[in-house]
Amino acid sequence: MFTGRCLCGAVHYSSTGPALFSVICHCRDCQRASGSGGVPVMGVPKESFVCSGPVKQSRTTGSSGLPAVRNFCSECGSLLFGTPESAPQMVTIYAGSLDEPMSFSPQEVLFAGQRPAWAKLAAQLVEHTAMPGQRGASPSDA
Ligand SMILES: [Zn+2]
Ligand SMILES: [Zn+2]
Repeated sequence: MFTGRCLCGAVHYSSTGPALFSVICHCRDCQRASGSGGVPVMGVPKESFVCSGPVKQSRTTGSSGLPAVRNFCSECGSLLFGTPESAPQMVTIYAGSLDEPMSFSPQEVLFAGQRPAWAKLAAQLVEHTAMPGQRGASPSDA
């Protein structure tokens, strides 16, 4: 079970999981949207995900060519989760919003080619220069 919320507490969410993938995305869009060097992302099945509270969406064209939709609290602006149109069967939780961030265990790095040197993690992860080819449950837009 994964639960999380925004900074002000107006938005809560939960998912029974399972985690389909756990990555750090360093694409420029994630950097700009978060104001950081990359975003920790965990995919969960959409049918497992429940959210309550005032959520706003921002839509940009993702690497798939379809809209990448980032959902954030309309009160405090915390970035919470993605609902990519390229993968409508999943929700991508931004792991910093989890109540138990330790439950996130990243396996891979996406868009390492766009990562600033100061954002490299000490953990040994499988690195992809950009987006790897489509696999079963891989994200195409975080
Ligand atoms: Zn909030
Ligand atoms: Zn990204």
